[in-house]
Amino acid sequence: MKRLLVLAVAATAILANAQTFPGTKPVTFVVPFAAGGPTDRVARDLAEAMRKAIPGSNFVVENVNGAGGTIGAAKVARAAPDGHTLLLHHIGMAAAPGLYRKLPYKVLDDFEFLGMINEVPMTIIGKPQLPANNYRDLENYIKANSGKLNIAHAGLGSASHLCGLMWQAAINAKEAMTTIPFSGTAPAMNALVGGQVDMMCDQTTNTTGQIESGRVKAYAVTTTKPLSGNKLLKDYPTLQEMGLKGFDLTIWHGLYAPKGTPPAVLAQLNAGLKAALKDADFLKKEDALGAVVVTDRRVEPAAHKAFVSAEINKLKPVIDAAGKYAD
Ligand code: ASP
Repeated sequence: MKRLLVLAVAATAILANAQTFPGTKPVTFVVPFAAGGPTDRVARDLAEAMRKAIPGSNFVVENVNGAGGTIGAAKVARAAPDGHTLLLHHIGMAAAPGLYRKLPYKVLDDFEFLGMINEVPMTIIGKPQLPANNYRDLENYIKANSGKLNIAHAGLGSASHLCGLMWQAAINAKEAMTTIPFSGTAPAMNALVGGQVDMMCDQTTNTTGQIESGRVKAYAVTTTKPLSGNKLLKDYPTLQEMGLKGFDLTIWHGLYAPKGTPPAVLAQLNAGLKAALKDADFLKKEDALGAVVVTDRRVEPAAHKAFVSAEINKLKPVIDAAGKYAD
């Protein structure tokens, strides 16, 4: 009898949550990088699509920068599990456990997985003053100027950091460049355009506009297949074509809630996410930036979690090979 009562109370609580969510309080997407960068861009476009998908809702974005995305992720892991504070993060969610010796949260235990959003290629880019005009020239230039160059990234464990590590290891240039961390690749891009840093590897969602306007030089893409469907990037070689066998890096974004968020609220958010990923305006924006919206099973929480778990295992040896850790 007592058990039945407990179950009835729990069921009523779930129902009440479903009926009152989202209520009048906005849902905050915590973006763990600086405003104006690629993660922020996905979040702002998705926020608009989710607003349309969940009647009466209001989605806002908060940038909680620092430590390669781990400060923002930690904030969401500790937030009230009521569906009003969500984390929008990229591949760094799976890179951080391999990179940080002391991570203030457990990726697979401290979050509810809401579904994946998109996949985005990266590009190797350089400041406009770099003398190299193609990828071969760039590698030769790096070798000839070993120790004098630098490469920007968005903090230890960020996508740009991961890409830089993998690339430097693949071209045997681990000591050739100094890495310069920023709070996101939006400020890093400003430094690159201004010529204060030499190179960066960043998502197409942040680089296409700058490449198109000639403010940065592009050298290669990080996917194994050329980006033949992309007007701007179709003619840039893949790193694999340039001799870096097996080089394959695609960034993905996903949505997370704090552990313990009521199932009915999670179901509402997941349904909203699925509808947002079919929103025509969102799809158009993503396509223009070279991003591919996820349509497969990974928009389901269980498949999203399984994917992140597999990515953690896949990235660990890559990070070990690059040999750079943080406390
Ligand atoms: N693109 C960044 C990264 O390298 C993150 C960002 O600024 O959105 O991880």
